[in-house]
Amino acid sequence: MQEALQKRCGPGTAAYKEAVRRLDSGEGVVDDGCRYLVYISYRGLGNRMLAITSSFLYAVLTERVLLVDGGSDAADLFCEPFPGTTWLLPRPGWFSFSPLRRLQGYLGGSKQSLGDMLRSGAVAVSADGNVSWSAPPRPPPYLYLHLSGGSGYGFHEKLFFCGAHQRLLGEVPWLFMWTDNYIVPGLFLTPPFTGELEAMFPEKDAVFHHLGRYLFHPTNPVWHAVTSYYRSTLAGSAQRVGVQIRVFHKEQPPQAVLEQVLSCVRGERLLPETTTAGGNASGTPSHAVLVTSLSSWYYERIRDEYGGRVAGGVHQPSHEGRQRWRDAAHDMRALSEMYLLSMCDVLVTSGYSTFGYVAQGLAWRRPCVMPRAPMWSDDWREGLDPRDMPCRRAASVEPCFHSPSAYDCAAGRDVDLDKVTPYIRRCVDVKCGIKLV
Ligand code: GDP
Repeated sequence: MQEALQKRCGPGTAAYKEAVRRLDSGEGVVDDGCRYLVYISYRGLGNRMLAITSSFLYAVLTERVLLVDGGSDAADLFCEPFPGTTWLLPRPGWFSFSPLRRLQGYLGGSKQSLGDMLRSGAVAVSADGNVSWSAPPRPPPYLYLHLSGGSGYGFHEKLFFCGAHQRLLGEVPWLFMWTDNYIVPGLFLTPPFTGELEAMFPEKDAVFHHLGRYLFHPTNPVWHAVTSYYRSTLAGSAQRVGVQIRVFHKEQPPQAVLEQVLSCVRGERLLPETTTAGGNASGTPSHAVLVTSLSSWYYERIRDEYGGRVAGGVHQPSHEGRQRWRDAAHDMRALSEMYLLSMCDVLVTSGYSTFGYVAQGLAWRRPCVMPRAPMWSDDWREGLDPRDMPCRRAASVEPCFHSPSAYDCAAGRDVDLDKVTPYIRRCVDVKCGIKLV
């Protein structure tokens, strides 16, 4: 059904042309069944993949066409998921005044956002759920949804997760969604969607796994990089151990991060600790290790430690040094490494990292998660022992929604999200985060 909608209303169709004309001229709704959700790309690739997945699910639930904006390299990374149409938002010309032209400049603030309109009283929702627009007294042609944690994501933005506010949004033909989060657990907690989502996903912990595998199809160059690296390094071993090391703060002492990784590997008994290079009776090397990190330093230390003990070797596909923006080759390497990690049998991931979430979700493997130290405070310098921060098995393979709303719209107060439903729990790596289990 979604595929048919994407094809009927997507770029290149008469319906799309008319919808853009109405958007640009500020005209209101026309009920031809074509409404749109534009996802505004920003942040790293892991964040983007989780946000696209969330946007897609929201588009399905609200019967909107999903269009992806701004990821200049999206076409280098992914094949089109919907047959006979494109999910990439066509860019209006440089001199166009279309709201679609301004999306990349949103950066978190607009009078045309749901939060700002609620704050200013331009739209109001009464206690019994009635929506009233004022100045002008009708739904606008478009609204921004600001669903990204941090500043600018306050009480009014979070009302997105209320049933009455969903009715309000249903009246707006174009929604522009700005998020870097996996908001799916929040959609399960949004009353008009709960029943449908529960029916759609009998296994609540498989949402990203199914959606991610449906939506993301790496392009041939990316897939070639994945399969050729896999064949030459990992395929021959019986047990592939993937270690994803993501360091968020420059001040983080590398030695402490390394200690945390090694203590996790030892504590979970993931690799042989004796020097006999293991192999099974058939001669297949028992273990191979895949390390992904922006730095080669960790890989070198892990190879020094385990190189002689794991017959399948220790491997790192790339060490990019630092995160880069708008660099297709860089993103292609990042994507191929997420897929390589997803082909491992066991995963050790860095808490808080969406890069790791994508890998574990695609893999359908519950990782051992290394917690991010208490914001890498002075504890490390004061000699905090990594053994005091053991890695923990994630409760499910689902990504963590880092900044959910705790507000129960019907009750009018905050609730403990850990206790609302049996299939939503706190994440082991992000204190306020929630995930499907
Ligand atoms: P997060 O910041 O860890 O949540 O993950 P994101 O994927 O959103 O952003 C981090 C970005 O840094 C990635 O998209 C890559 O561009 C880069 N990066 C981080 N870790 C690695 C890595 O292990 N390998 C490669 N190739 N790139 C990485």
